[in-house]
Amino acid sequence: AGSRDLPSVVRPDLVPTLSGDWVDYANLDHAASTPALERVARAVGTATRTYSSVHRGTGWLSRVTSAHYEAARDEVARFVGAREDDVVVFTRGTTDSVNLLARALPRDTTVIVFASEHHATLLPWRHRDTVRLPVPGSTRDAELLLDAALRELPPGTARRPHHALVVLTAASNVTGELWPVERLAAIARRHGARVLLDAAQSAAHRPIDVDALGVDWVAFSGHKVHAPFGTGVLAGRRDWLDAAPPYLAGGGATVQVTERTTRWTTGAARHEAGSPNVLGAVALAAACATIREHRAAIEQHESRLTGRLLDGLRAIDGVSTYSLFGDDTERGPVVTFTVDGLDSHLVAASLSAEHGIGVRAGKFCAHILVDTLLGEGSDEHDTAVRVSAGLATTDEHVDRLLAAVAVLADEGPGTVYEHTPEHGWV
Ligand code: PMP
Repeated sequence: AGSRDLPSVVRPDLVPTLSGDWVDYANLDHAASTPALERVARAVGTATRTYSSVHRGTGWLSRVTSAHYEAARDEVARFVGAREDDVVVFTRGTTDSVNLLARALPRDTTVIVFASEHHATLLPWRHRDTVRLPVPGSTRDAELLLDAALRELPPGTARRPHHALVVLTAASNVTGELWPVERLAAIARRHGARVLLDAAQSAAHRPIDVDALGVDWVAFSGHKVHAPFGTGVLAGRRDWLDAAPPYLAGGGATVQVTERTTRWTTGAARHEAGSPNVLGAVALAAACATIREHRAAIEQHESRLTGRLLDGLRAIDGVSTYSLFGDDTERGPVVTFTVDGLDSHLVAASLSAEHGIGVRAGKFCAHILVDTLLGEGSDEHDTAVRVSAGLATTDEHVDRLLAAVAVLADEGPGTVYEHTPEHGWV
């Protein structure tokens, strides 16, 4: 396929519906995980034939494998627009990357994070001095909240400098909205704070350029960019990472070990002890390269589908869609909605069983944000439905969803479901 076409994914087979039909599975849950690209599957197949130990053996296969692993790192560096001296650490995913950075922060670092964050970026700082900013009601509000919090920070001294880390999300996993990262990062910089960008939800949909955005680190997951689970990245400034204890202690992270001392190496290897996930890295790099090449086609396709989804859902009586910064905010292909009078898990069960449509219901690991969006008085039982499209989504998938939601809003589910504590609606 040329760069103006969409890259192909490994498609699942037809799936059965309650009516006895077999339908093309409409996977509208790309925000959770994405299907593998054909090119990723091929790259893994090829690498599987030759893999061997990395950075240890001197045999031919080991040298080839080590070269693949480092080439994968270079591709990821290009994908995030890494600066000359940045380090790219392979991790198991965004959650792992954020936890790695959380362990690497210098003493006396205050972490500033919006309460609307995904739990992966909200929670790993709990042993730290943390400032939790309220869920902002507009992008301007976010800027003001951040600026005010940074002004309050205690000054450091020459002997004991005070550090601050601002945690931002590139795109919300709940509303799909893009955050004003460049502006927020500029505010952070003005106050001498550093920035971690959670790009888990944007990496598949928008370019990342750490330099242009003015962020210090970026994290994302392979399984949300059409590569397998268990791969991810933390990329960015090396100083704090080189000064911190290794994330994992073990082989490959050391320069020299004696009876009494251990000297740890620097760079990515410091935090990647143990035999690395070479196939995962190769897969992730193949995904990054493919997305980079097809970026324009992907963005065009997805923005058309997003418009169709949003317009379609908003036009259905009894359906509410949600946004934090206002309906006109630019967003990735993610829309969260509720249907009046229907439990969101029931809506999701009906979409799956009757229409072969996969969506997610719940609070999407962003409880505070979802509670805020659902409004005053919402509690743990109030949830929403999230549809999330991607490069493999077709117009037919979107239209099928819209038709199904219209029927649900009007008549309710087409069959009787029973709620069981173990399996939910069945
Ligand atoms: N941040 C955001 C915005 C996410 O959507 C997710 C995944 N739902 C994560 C972080 C965590 O990613 P992972 O589960 O791959 O570690």
